[in-house]
Amino acid sequence: MEIRYISTNRLNGIGKTSPLSFTDALSKGIADDGGLFMPDSIPQLNPAAISSFSKMDYPDIAFRVLREYIGSALPETELIRLLKDAYDFEVPIEKADDKTYIMRLDRGPTASFKDFAARFMARMMARLKPAGKKITILVATSGDTGSAVGEAFKGLEGIKVYILYPTAEVSPIQKKQLDSIGENVSALELSGTFDDCQKIVKQAFFDKDLQHLNLSSANSINIARILPQSVYYFYAFSRVSMDGQPIIFSVPSGNLGNSFGCEVARRMGLPVKRLILAVNSNKEVAELLQTGEYRKIEPSVNCISNAMNVGNPSNLARYFDAFGGWLEKNGDVLKKPDLTKMNEILFSRSISDEETRQTIVAFHNKYKILLEPHGAVGVRALELYRAINGSADTAVCLETAHPAKFPETITSELGLVPELPEALKHLNGRESCSVRLPCEFQAVKEYISGCN
Ligand SMILES: *Cc1c(COP(=O)(O)O)cnc(C)c1O
Repeated sequence: MEIRYISTNRLNGIGKTSPLSFTDALSKGIADDGGLFMPDSIPQLNPAAISSFSKMDYPDIAFRVLREYIGSALPETELIRLLKDAYDFEVPIEKADDKTYIMRLDRGPTASFKDFAARFMARMMARLKPAGKKITILVATSGDTGSAVGEAFKGLEGIKVYILYPTAEVSPIQKKQLDSIGENVSALELSGTFDDCQKIVKQAFFDKDLQHLNLSSANSINIARILPQSVYYFYAFSRVSMDGQPIIFSVPSGNLGNSFGCEVARRMGLPVKRLILAVNSNKEVAELLQTGEYRKIEPSVNCISNAMNVGNPSNLARYFDAFGGWLEKNGDVLKKPDLTKMNEILFSRSISDEETRQTIVAFHNKYKILLEPHGAVGVRALELYRAINGSADTAVCLETAHPAKFPETITSELGLVPELPEALKHLNGRESCSVRLPCEFQAVKEYISGCN
């Protein structure tokens, strides 16, 4: 039976909306009832299959992890080709000590882990859309998502991309990344907040005058952005596990899409000892696991690990669903999840900016390994886990961005300037072009209508 995609808005297993194919779930992004898509079954990989990954390269592992989710949407030979094209960069795993590794997910074109999902989704959308159909992607961003999505869709036939970003909330490097993508990707610079940008995008989807543009979102809740994020957990396991022993993953978390990829991998059969959800001062998830009560944080707290400044994570609804609960988008709990089961596999701690900075310094002094703020939150949460549970198990901490994207923090703590990765070196030579618009729906609407 081919895997179908069902909404998290289900009461006692009775769906309000019918299950969809991968292609339809990908193009819709969100279910008609407002819920998030989940696969209706999880393909299983046995220990022999998982251990064979140790001799495979990244795209081959990706193929074996993902093929059943795609099913008949794409012939296998094409899927392999697509994955080789999407994952043409290295995924370094650095050893800190015998039990501790750092997996760097920062070698893609925009130097954040979001490249892994965006490159897969963009290629899938371009390939699976009906021939000749033109689509328009609208995405609001306050940082890494916009550039990852923009770069991923750059040059793809029949797809136009508009990235809406708040001038005041992006860093100079991020601005340069967003403004210089070019070709079919336009950056719209708005004089408001991230929330304003997101509201404009939402309004656009409901506007009748814009329907002919075939608007689609490249939002982080799209199931096609979750599934490819399960691959690197298998990859890490294949490179560091001794004799198939379960390992710990520590994941710097905001909207919980990255970590949910790990939970999917675990349910497919990957031996995961513990999944650490490392968060900054936006600690609603850490409190949920400790108290069983969910209280979103509004407005979210500003921290130096800024891509994790999330007070009501969109993918928390998927965790609720996976553990028998039901959470609405606005943060209302309709049914509590099984907290005991959750705590058996999940562990979460909130890390302050002060601790984040200290960890960057301590880790560099001890191992000569450079962390940026998001990765440091992950490393610190692992230390807190080990203080309680001991350090017998091998652990992999994810580095979700390149340190050179955060030169201010690194330089003030360590007195050095991180070297730019290849992907960012050419930024200075690229031409910048953004369009400044008032932060109003009407202005954005007129602009994108006029362009098409
Ligand atoms: C987006 C992002 C995160 C948070 O990932 P989620 O999937 O939203 O939990 C962490 N670190 C960096 C650098 C990011 O860009």
